[in-house]
Amino acid sequence: MADLILRDARVEDAATPSDITVTDGRISAVGAAPPAGTCEEIDCAGRVVVPAFVEPHLHLDKALLDGLRANPDGTLAGAISVTGALKADFTHDNVRARARRVVEAAILNGTTVIRAHPDVDPIEGLIGVEVLVELRAAYAHALDLQIVAFPQEGVLRSPGTEKLLRAALAAGADVVGGCTYNEATLEDCRAHVELVLDLAVEHGVPADLHADFGDDASDPRYALAEFIGEQTARRGLGGRVALGHMTSLAGRPPAERARAMAALAAAGVAVVPLPATDLYLGGRGDTTAVRRGVAPVRELWDAGVLTACSSNNVRNAFTPYGSADPLDTALLLAQTGHLSGAADLRRVLRMVTYEAARVVGVHDGYGVRPGARADLLVLDTTAYDDIVLDRPERAWVVKAGRVVARSTRTRELLVP
Ligand SMILES: [Zn+2]
Repeated sequence: MADLILRDARVEDAATPSDITVTDGRISAVGAAPPAGTCEEIDCAGRVVVPAFVEPHLHLDKALLDGLRANPDGTLAGAISVTGALKADFTHDNVRARARRVVEAAILNGTTVIRAHPDVDPIEGLIGVEVLVELRAAYAHALDLQIVAFPQEGVLRSPGTEKLLRAALAAGADVVGGCTYNEATLEDCRAHVELVLDLAVEHGVPADLHADFGDDASDPRYALAEFIGEQTARRGLGGRVALGHMTSLAGRPPAERARAMAALAAAGVAVVPLPATDLYLGGRGDTTAVRRGVAPVRELWDAGVLTACSSNNVRNAFTPYGSADPLDTALLLAQTGHLSGAADLRRVLRMVTYEAARVVGVHDGYGVRPGARADLLVLDTTAYDDIVLDRPERAWVVKAGRVVARSTRTRELLVP
């Protein structure tokens, strides 16, 4: 028997509405539904239904710190320094309180899968991981939370971190993270990559690294794409490695950039631009023609590299903006990536839905079709091609067939 019917729903870009029937947490039919009165119903009134959003890269443990201490100079070094000092005062209680606010905002914004990157290092220890393991259980009705053990302070330059990464994986982290930009030398960056990918193999988990994040693309520490592709292929980790930022890719000469992207595509390594952070921290040393370092999205598409986008941080020294809304990130990426028109905007929408789901490995059973998980979003619009432009209200958020959030907004033009 059906558990939920979404009646008169426009399935993504369908020309006409139909009914979506949900049984045991999955979509059992798209088309004519059983008669009214047999189960809970949502009258979509012709609104668009899309699969719920996926945030593949979000730092919940250090969100909402900007009110405590802001970035003094807007640089990456400033962000690491300020956040490192604040992390010394982290407790389970204060991390939990801030992380919960962002998790709840994300659910209201229509996100039902988050890959979170809590810091794991001698300053924060396992506090972030432990809190998120707890929140993963507390919000399981609304959200699938993946936890990345993220060595923000580096591994080689921060002794004790490798041991902590192993402890984080034992404590419930699902993914091993990396942060190559915080190592001192090219040799250490490479050793960091190898160590992270070896841990992924050893523990049978995916890897998700912050990489090639810098303005100076001539610095080989920020040009690791080919090396990461090669090391991924060598370990048979294709389809299980994602790279956040990758800003310096845009600054490499075109032929070199094309080789790097071909290597990523061949190895099955995904790229996740984080435009709010990349734009805020990038180009701080430039005095004229300030660089706006965002990974070259259209070229990544054309090269066949799986590409999603995400919020990264919410209101801290790395990114003093954000509401954990994937549609805000999608619009920012479109505006700064020379992406426009219906075809581009549809692809950008896929970067926070289908392609983000592939990056975090939840693509099987994702979508609006019979057999898929009923993680669905009823958007307060009938115009599919305007979703990224309008960022409409998330009228109903459905997780595994259950309504987990509702939003309404009334706007009235008053005529005298
Ligand atoms: Zn990040």
